[in-house]
Amino acid sequence: MTHPPVLPFVVAVDGPAGSGKSSVSKEVARRLGWGFLDTGAAYRALAWHVEASGVDTDDPASVISCLDSFAYRIGTDPTGYSVHVGATDVTHAIREPGISGVVSRVARVPEVRTHLIELFRAIMAAERRGGIVVEGRDITTVVAPDAPARILLTASEEVRMARRSAELVGHSAAATGAQLQARDAADSKVVDFMNAADGVVTVDSTDLDFDETVEAVLAVIRDAQVRTG
Ligand code: C5P
Repeated sequence: MTHPPVLPFVVAVDGPAGSGKSSVSKEVARRLGWGFLDTGAAYRALAWHVEASGVDTDDPASVISCLDSFAYRIGTDPTGYSVHVGATDVTHAIREPGISGVVSRVARVPEVRTHLIELFRAIMAAERRGGIVVEGRDITTVVAPDAPARILLTASEEVRMARRSAELVGHSAAATGAQLQARDAADSKVVDFMNAADGVVTVDSTDLDFDETVEAVLAVIRDAQVRTG
């Protein structure tokens, strides 16, 4: 007799740039022994691929033409996380401000979103650990609206800017802040990640340190586990 596959417990986490959602989600996954999927990394990897192909990131048709050759691989192991495009390890290259500056142009193209959302759902379905923490901008609303735990991770703009400029050593705080604001403004035209949708729990990390934020997210997950039996 065949058994239907056991689906992983999905934790959907959305939030603006610099809210800490990547590092917090990764640590939550690590503590639970679950998988971790950074969807922003896929949009960044595609922006990297479009640039590497010598194509204009501002032209939707050119961006779409790169989808077929986008050989993207991302692991879901939170301890050995890496991102590849073809044979190239782009884990670090996709964090550069040059990519942050163009990624929103690529992410706003509807065909890109449809393509990547399918990829994310396939990665989630293939997860063999008990659960997977998936983070991005539209996970709670579009990618996994039925996830048993859905969280909006926020922080004041001031705190987000300070965290991001601390991460990007060697870049001016003013330039980093301006880029973060511009990216949030561009991204919010495509998806609303500033307001929690119905049933989504907001965790505001403005006054929480990293560990307290991880604990707050774990508490939401524990509640959801009790609720869903
Ligand atoms: O999360 P991160 O800042 O790395 O995301 C990079 C970019 O990818 C965002 O600025 C946004 O343009 C895009 N993105 C998206 N939908 C997601 C995740 C990221 O449009 N679910």
